[in-house]
Amino acid sequence: MENKLYIYNTLNRKKEEFKPINPPHVGMYVCGPTVYGEPHLGHARPGITYDVLYRYLQYIGYKVRYVRNITDVGHLESDADTGEDKIAKKARLEELEPMEIVQFYTNSYHEKMKALNTLPPSIEPHASGHIIEQQLMVKKILDNGYAYEKNGSIYFDVEKYNQKYKYGKLSGRIIDDLQSNTRELDGLDEKKNPFDFALWKKASPEHIMRWPSEWSDGFPGWHLECSVMSTKYLGEKFDIHGGGMDLLFPHHECEIAQSTAANGEESVQYWMHNNMITIDGQKMGKSLGNFITLEEFFTGNHKLLEKAYSPMTIRFFILQAHYRSPLDFSNEALQSAEKGMARLFTAMDKLDNLKTSAKSSFDVQALKQRCFDALNDDLNTPILFAHLFDGVKYINSIAAGTESITAGDLDELKKLYHDFVYEIAGLKNENAQKQGANKLDEVLTLLLNLRMEVKKNKDFATADKIRDQLKDMGIIVKDTKDGFEWEIN
Ligand code: ZN
Repeated sequence: MENKLYIYNTLNRKKEEFKPINPPHVGMYVCGPTVYGEPHLGHARPGITYDVLYRYLQYIGYKVRYVRNITDVGHLESDADTGEDKIAKKARLEELEPMEIVQFYTNSYHEKMKALNTLPPSIEPHASGHIIEQQLMVKKILDNGYAYEKNGSIYFDVEKYNQKYKYGKLSGRIIDDLQSNTRELDGLDEKKNPFDFALWKKASPEHIMRWPSEWSDGFPGWHLECSVMSTKYLGEKFDIHGGGMDLLFPHHECEIAQSTAANGEESVQYWMHNNMITIDGQKMGKSLGNFITLEEFFTGNHKLLEKAYSPMTIRFFILQAHYRSPLDFSNEALQSAEKGMARLFTAMDKLDNLKTSAKSSFDVQALKQRCFDALNDDLNTPILFAHLFDGVKYINSIAAGTESITAGDLDELKKLYHDFVYEIAGLKNENAQKQGANKLDEVLTLLLNLRMEVKKNKDFATADKIRDQLKDMGIIVKDTKDGFEWEIN
């Protein structure tokens, strides 16, 4: 690999050179959504962050298997293994089957991720489709002595695990702190220690999402699915595990403990965590009234929004911050992202019409190297865009005749912008698409005007043929007294 990529490994708290276990193959697992509500800005950030990583790894020559799960069972309202299942609760409130909720919000999630131009993962496993595998892992952990049964539920024995392996490696939390920080009540009386967590929970009579097991009719603990599905599809040792910082503890800490307790060693080489999005400095939350779904961003239909923001504006806005930095949403920030992106695309449009000279007054190769350096430095997308905007000044100056470029360098520059902006950053020029749609409107109008002419010449057979063939394409043409109307069916 020509490019040396460094990524920040949360586990070791430093940037490390990325060396896959089995190059050129890379296994990458990202915690996906719990599908019980409309996707929001908080879903967009990991979606886009790991999409850029996925795109970049492939661009520099790796073959990536990207697994992102769908959580459709076992995510309870409280981290302390209490409360209702989030999906079952939504199903109860809406009087629907839990799997109807899962399908509805999974569809919506896919739709929004597609609008944001994220590539679909290679495999998208559902927790509910891997109950047997989860039971097998519980058994393995029990056999290895790191879990215990109480009243049909199985809990992970954190203290016992900690004697052999260190618990808290990822979050830096140690058992003594957990002991004093966990409220007694959280543990219920089934757990030996309040920080133990459920691997399998016996279902109460009213709990609908349940499966038979040798311990009880019940359901898996939320943390288990990711340990099980990541190792099932990527092997007991794999390269990258990503997710939001909010999942670092307890979710990812528990994943490490489970995989290690089952297999004797950790599964993940590089742990990556994206930071969170705040809204006007506050955490996003339903109770705060600042909870904005992606659909609301795209339509502008929310009281906090001054206007609609296109999917690409959201994408560009997110990439203008480094993924490990917090990102604060405001109308002002989004509008400035919108303007910045327009400036970038306007300059890129000029690339096709630049005049070339015998000499270049700018080092295109150096710009390209700086772009790679930015991404190789832990995917530093804001620095990447800073370099691309340096190039924008150059493009504008060439267009104004104050700078010059050779034909060879111009080809390089076009490829550089195409690759970094479209292929790696995953942006699309929405204006160009709108212009394309406008052009098609113009072509259709031209065709229908020609049809009017043939009618005037009494060539009704040709006029009907045009009308019928358009109808086959789903375009309905109606003759009116002044001309025609059309609509897409
Ligand atoms: Zn997970």
